[in-house]
Amino acid sequence: MISVIGAGPAGSYVSYLLAKAGMRVSLFEEHKKVGEPFQCSGIQTNYFKDVVLFKNDLVINKIKKVRVILPGTTFLDFKLEKPNLVIDRVNFDKFLFNVAESQGIKTYLGKRFISYKKTDKLHLKFNKGKFESDYLIGADGPMSSVAKSSGLFGKREFLFGMQARVKAEFDKDVFQVFLGNKICPGFFAWVIPENEKVARIGLATKKNTLHYFNKFVSKGKILDKQAGLIPVYNPKIKSQKDNVFLVGDAATQVKASTAGGLVPGLISAKILANSILKETNYDKAWKNKIGKDLYLSLLIRKTLNKFSDRDYYDLIRMLGRKKVKGLIERYDREFPTKFLFKLALFEPRFLKYTKKVIL
Ligand SMILES: Cc1cc2nc3c(=O)[nH]c(=O)nc-3n(C[C@H](O)[C@H](O)[C@H](O)COP(=O)(O)OP(=O)(O)OC[C@H]3O[C@@H](n4cnc5c(N)ncnc54)[C@H](O)[C@@H]3O)c2cc1C
Repeated sequence: MISVIGAGPAGSYVSYLLAKAGMRVSLFEEHKKVGEPFQCSGIQTNYFKDVVLFKNDLVINKIKKVRVILPGTTFLDFKLEKPNLVIDRVNFDKFLFNVAESQGIKTYLGKRFISYKKTDKLHLKFNKGKFESDYLIGADGPMSSVAKSSGLFGKREFLFGMQARVKAEFDKDVFQVFLGNKICPGFFAWVIPENEKVARIGLATKKNTLHYFNKFVSKGKILDKQAGLIPVYNPKIKSQKDNVFLVGDAATQVKASTAGGLVPGLISAKILANSILKETNYDKAWKNKIGKDLYLSLLIRKTLNKFSDRDYYDLIRMLGRKKVKGLIERYDREFPTKFLFKLALFEPRFLKYTKKVIL
């Protein structure tokens, strides 16, 4: 018996894959409704559709252009060769959960995992009731109780993300990214249109998030708000202890440069299912596949965190060079290892930023 905690994308997907391979799976979710409350902007590179089961009607908008905006009037547009997708996150979570259910898994909603003890079996304690299991998978998000209970939580850092769905007028083709230490220190602010009339507007910071959020979201009518923790990838965190595993945000499998957690979490869910079925080392396997990209994303984030507004202007100037811009437009940002080396070849001045990381 395999028990999975958390019916987010990582939990539902790993449950589906294991059940499809013939394993007995139980999936536990603390909320009564899957996918709610949602805490996500739902922006994905086109690669997303290749990672997981998908239905086209989960895409609510296709983004053709990314506009990077600096304080003042400077901005730079990147035309996307393949559009970015704005997905309906609530229905995506429900869709994956239903697909997992269709493979015959047992599902328990409104059941919160508390802790476990190990003897010859794993004895799981919930807010209501107890269960016995052979394997335990923590897909229970940034504050993972499975990670805490197993001693895998380690030292983690978080950003706090806040977003509002706002009614106003928007260009539905353009995803806007705002940089600058006064706007959003340590990250970026975003405007992601759902259509011409509604956009997801938000930002993430380490502290004082509400202050920056209130300053940034100043126009239009707020329809609803979302907020949540974003774990910063920590390469030192272990994701496996005996028959207990962590996946998704629970294992900090999130790109630190953009806070994109869906693709790395779903890739890792697939690797986890394979590792359990083939009895191979999961921790090694996912780090082999996406560890370098997650680490590079972390270095990019650490470098950007040391940027002054002047550095941002220099960066935009370099990114604006024709060859560099073309390269960025061709490669999507999902796997920085695929293009950062080429970028440094076209524009060696990028290498000066490595000094910031070392210092
Ligand atoms: C504001 C914001 C914007 C974001 N925007 C993007 C974006 O545009 N693109 C992107 O790729 N990523 C984005 N992310 C990150 C993305 O939302 C996460 O990486 C993703 O949801 C991780 O999926 P998961 O399945 O690992 O965890 P989650 O989606 O967090 O699912 C965990 C599940 O476990 C349940 N759970 C938790 N504890 C327990 C317990 N003790 N017992 C039972 N159940 C429990 C929770 O209720 C939840 O359903 C954003 C995050 C935030 C906060």
